[in-house]
Amino acid sequence: KPFNFQTMQKENIDINATLIDQVFEMQKAQAIKMRMSSVNQRIILLKKLLDWIKSHQVDIRRAIHADFKKPYPEIDISEIFVVTSEIKHAINHLEAWMKPKKVSTPITMLGSSSYIHYEPKGVSLIIAPWNYPFNLALGPLVSALSAGCTAIIKPSEITPHTSALIRRLVDETFDKSQVAVFEGEIDTAQKLLEKPFDHIFFTGSPAVGKIIMKAAAENLSSVTLELGGKSPAIVDKQADLTDAATKIVWGKFVNCGQTCIAPDYVLVHQSVQIPFLEELKAQIQKMYDPSEKGIEKSKDYARIVSTKHLKRLKHLMADAELKGAQLFFGGYVNEDDNFFEPTVITNVTDEMEVLQEEIFGPILPIKPYDDIEEALGYINSKPKPLALYVFSKDEKQIQEVFKNTSSGGVVANDCVLHFLQNELPFGGVNNSGIGKAHGHFGFLAFSNEKAVLKQRIGFTASKPLFPPYGFTSKKII
Ligand code: NAD
Repeated sequence: KPFNFQTMQKENIDINATLIDQVFEMQKAQAIKMRMSSVNQRIILLKKLLDWIKSHQVDIRRAIHADFKKPYPEIDISEIFVVTSEIKHAINHLEAWMKPKKVSTPITMLGSSSYIHYEPKGVSLIIAPWNYPFNLALGPLVSALSAGCTAIIKPSEITPHTSALIRRLVDETFDKSQVAVFEGEIDTAQKLLEKPFDHIFFTGSPAVGKIIMKAAAENLSSVTLELGGKSPAIVDKQADLTDAATKIVWGKFVNCGQTCIAPDYVLVHQSVQIPFLEELKAQIQKMYDPSEKGIEKSKDYARIVSTKHLKRLKHLMADAELKGAQLFFGGYVNEDDNFFEPTVITNVTDEMEVLQEEIFGPILPIKPYDDIEEALGYINSKPKPLALYVFSKDEKQIQEVFKNTSSGGVVANDCVLHFLQNELPFGGVNNSGIGKAHGHFGFLAFSNEKAVLKQRIGFTASKPLFPPYGFTSKKII
């Protein structure tokens, strides 16, 4: 049936249920056609996406800024550049990724030949969070299009301006049979999840990740779950404290702390805790208050996304202070503007909620340790993090951290940067995620690695295995 998104939205019909059904069926038919899509056909779609982004930089900045006052330079780097570089990387490598991969033939298979064919999985669903609302909806789309899949995107309802912009981008760039957007709240996501998608790519919290995985199980849809959790940073006694503090301050307070791979808390060697704290303070002031007018006046500091999230952070602070944490820096909150000052707290204990749940905001707890085994034991007693950072000049110490911990990614002497390295898989492990994204790994997430074996007619190496059986298992093992 012909339909019109806008008219139906105006008439307030149960558009989602009806349209989800229709769009899903359209995409199912299209996905079969796209199975055989060539490198060039996919590159055309990727270029269309790139062109729209390039020609709408101002609109993208305005939409994201309207949602949580994210500074334009942060939007350019962490939203727009991340997506355009992902697109360019895919365009440059797609031919190699799509090329069937020949595998060797064992003696028992003599006469046959085998290879892996990268087949698009089909119709995919991308559910995105609000914290990098543009990048985390469109990055996975680049992988879906590269792999030859169709996609339905459900952006986050918490960043409505960016959500509307993503719908506009998709409406102006693609046919709905290829890519479609459904804006909406949890009920929209739930309606979408009833459909038998060939792949679901979800980015969000571990709690919702479990709901997604249960829904996916009903249809045996494969999943990529990009989740969160508490990513620690270790500052060793051999660290360059200025360097460590500079990078931790940026990694923690960029996007106002609302970053899945932000250092959630710092484990610092007790012998360097005091100078490290002083460095943190100096770096916060240098980055966000160079003219000493107050951080609230800085144009380079975003806001908390909503009052609800601001209240959650205020509660974390109140709980920590009640249980004995000390405020070292910051703590000022302006509810009228969802402003939460970069905040550093010390004297933290595991009884505090701030050390139990993902902070996802600009509060940095500092916890001292006596020796590295203690720090590693602490990390290993918690769910596996999405990222882990270690600051040290001692290569042996770095290796010890690398080898004795498990996390989605691990970085020495920097923060957050691995997200931008397209050649690395990005993702978590267990509680912090299942499956990998970015570049080739994103392409693989949306591809079925189909096993292909070709045999010569009239010939089979398995003939001696046909009945009547003339062998004993002893002979073949
Ligand atoms: P969220 O899990 O609350 O929501 C993510 C998406 O899921 C939204 O589109 C939302 O509408 C939908 N959703 C929420 N509840 C749902 C339900 N019951 N059923 C179906 N869909 C539902 O996450 P968020 O608050 O938007 O984002 C913050 C979380 O995301 C943090 O935990 C953060 O660490 C994580 N995160 C992870 C990555 C990564 O790449 N690994 C990136 C960014 C954010």
